[in-house]
Amino acid sequence: MIEPGSGWPEDAATTDTPVATNAAEVVWLADGAAGDLTELSARSSVCRACPRLVAWREQVAADRRRAFADQPYWGRPVPGWGDPRPRLLIVGLAPAAHGGNRTGRIFTGDRSGDWLFASLHRLGVAVRPTSEHAGDGQRLLGTRMVAAVRCAPPDNKPTTDERDICQHWLRAEVETVNDTIRAVVALGGYAWQAALRVLGQIGYRIPSPRPAFGHGATVELIAADQGRGSAGGGTERPLLLAGSYHPSQQNTFTGKLTEPMLDAALRRATDYAGLPDPDSASGG
Ligand code: SF4
Repeated sequence: MIEPGSGWPEDAATTDTPVATNAAEVVWLADGAAGDLTELSARSSVCRACPRLVAWREQVAADRRRAFADQPYWGRPVPGWGDPRPRLLIVGLAPAAHGGNRTGRIFTGDRSGDWLFASLHRLGVAVRPTSEHAGDGQRLLGTRMVAAVRCAPPDNKPTTDERDICQHWLRAEVETVNDTIRAVVALGGYAWQAALRVLGQIGYRIPSPRPAFGHGATVELIAADQGRGSAGGGTERPLLLAGSYHPSQQNTFTGKLTEPMLDAALRRATDYAGLPDPDSASGG
């Protein structure tokens, strides 16, 4: 496991970053960092609130896969990553054991990430077609990524308790970028449900019955957005939630998800969000 403050590129945490060791501490530390993405990334990246996941991620980091035996593994929770003022937020399930859990960057170092970053590059919101490791020069333009659960889970299956605890980090992050996001893409049904839950928690009206996930599914959500867009305040701003099949090998190997399908689902969201934005081309 990479120790905080040991010089790993893009590591926001230091030896002074407070560590959550239970659900109540996650709530307290997430709420306390809402509004500050750097601090939120730092605090979430040292979280130890779920004993099963802490043990798993650190065991994987110690054992390593043979192909990566010469590499240090991150072995910590993987924080949100990308543009700090995003118009588009992409939500995944959780880091892969030998992907994000190895590289410390979400969707980086595994085949799912290869598919996703290639698509984002084709759409003009990732400056490189691949994301290989922290510090590789990759940047997202107007776009940010976050996982519903920040620690790699065994079999990609967090428990309901783990999901609910980690949701506080997700809620704090979505709340922090809510001023700028125009669209959310959920990669898979798990991320779709997580996105609906936190968007509901921060004030979006969730239709009943809840919108169903599907590849290409979209729903416009409305939030009361006081003080924005009109002199008297109280205007309503829609947010697009778009669904895509997850670019897992299970989906891409079988042809359930093709590159044109992934591009189309993401393009729906980038178009809605006004991306790529010429003004952000030099930002990141
Ligand atoms: S899954 Fe989330 S809440 Fe649980 S230890 Fe990891 S970062 Fe903390």
